[in-house]
Amino acid sequence: MTVLIDLNPATGECLAEIPITSPEQLQAAVARARAAQPGWGAMPTAARLELLRAVAGRLEERAEELADLITLEMGKPRKQALGEVRGWAKHCLTELDEIATAIEPEKFDTEGQSTVLVRSPLGVVAAITPWNFPVGMPMQILLPALGTGNTVVFKPSEMVPQVGAMIAELLGEGLPEGVLELVQGDGSVGAALVESEIDMIGFVGSRATGKHIMKSAAGELKRLVLELGGKDPLIVMADADLEEAAECAVRHSLRNTGQVCCSVERVFVAEEVAAGFEDLVAKKARAWTCGDGFDEAVAMGPMVSDDQRRKVIDHVDAALESGARLVWRGEAPDSPGFFHPAVVLADVGEEFRITREETFGPVVSLTTFSGDEQEALRLANDTPYGLGANVFTGDTERGLRMAAGIHAGQIGVNQYLGGAPGLPWVGARQSGFGFLGGIEGHRQFTVPKSISRPKTAGA
Ligand code: NAD
Repeated sequence: MTVLIDLNPATGECLAEIPITSPEQLQAAVARARAAQPGWGAMPTAARLELLRAVAGRLEERAEELADLITLEMGKPRKQALGEVRGWAKHCLTELDEIATAIEPEKFDTEGQSTVLVRSPLGVVAAITPWNFPVGMPMQILLPALGTGNTVVFKPSEMVPQVGAMIAELLGEGLPEGVLELVQGDGSVGAALVESEIDMIGFVGSRATGKHIMKSAAGELKRLVLELGGKDPLIVMADADLEEAAECAVRHSLRNTGQVCCSVERVFVAEEVAAGFEDLVAKKARAWTCGDGFDEAVAMGPMVSDDQRRKVIDHVDAALESGARLVWRGEAPDSPGFFHPAVVLADVGEEFRITREETFGPVVSLTTFSGDEQEALRLANDTPYGLGANVFTGDTERGLRMAAGIHAGQIGVNQYLGGAPGLPWVGARQSGFGFLGGIEGHRQFTVPKSISRPKTAGA
């Protein structure tokens, strides 16, 4: 195959045929990035970041066009697509300020010696990204990779090649040749890129792909940041505000048609309140209508692909066959698009596939537990993943205590997880390796280097 067939998931129609980067073209892109790196890395930080700051205005100027492409290529509602672009047009400036702070030289003086700690770029970074937030995921690698002085070869997901190309165009405009290279293709091009003469891989995607990349990077000990999948729990204790807990469970199981790394994938409800909670969830899920993302009335677009939809169907069917109860199933348009309606399941067992594997679809999966917080924690932690988690309880102290016992990078107590800028985005356990975001995340694109000299009088 020499082209990617770029499909509209709402219609199944071909939007474009995108040429796949050949092995020779990929080697040439890496070579150009290699040649450009010393000059880019040696540029004063302020000048380098100034060039990158220009992307903010370009994202804002082309926001409508880019939002159209997002909805066309991966299906999310147009308003949410525009929100993603506009959000990053603002947020990229904050990120670039943080990057400047992250690589500021630090002084470590002793009586007789003066030392400066600098953070050097690693060289050429491969940026390999998924499709679910097709602007946000690339930007969170491209900005720190470039801002810290690396050059980048960027491979967007094969599901969103045109969005990827537009990001490369908007960010790359005005940069020296070779600083940001774009390659297109599926996992085989990603694998070839990982094996090429690069120094680091910044990857966001599934746990399975992350494992392949880690193995492949081991030969040359290439540096890695892997942000991977999740199976986030939401715990509802008997004393919780059920209305708020149900709102959080539904919104964050169904947002982006459930195609979010930190979606709520498992809801554990105390048995005393399970019946009332289930009613609230079923009522709220009705608002999550599904249809073409260009229709302003819909809350959820199609799934990104037929494969993704089949996986969700398999998880739901297997759960129902194993004894789960169908509480509610919405309607999906009768069309060739890859639609899957919102589904609410109850009595979902601990060993069901839908409890063990990342579903990445619009399902609220309810499991009842009896007993205390220890049982809730056991269930929440019974997974190899560790991305996010949420706990609802009327006793905040208990919520905080439970948060300390959950293996995850981001935990919300009586609210959905996360929120403040400047925080790292951390996949604990098998949800990641290294992390992105915040000062510490940006520093992962660098290697610290200390330079010491004797102190001279007056220095
Ligand atoms: P994926 O792993 O299938 O693909 C991600 C990228 O890797 C794509 O560009 C793909 O072409 C490439 N790729 C595939 N095989 C490869 C290989 N062997 N070597 C190198 N590159 C390869 O994931 P996806 O379906 O695009 O995205 C969904 C996954 O991403 C979910 O698991 C989701 O949880 C995860 N995700 C995680 C985060 C996070 O921050 N932790 C954020 C968004 C998505």
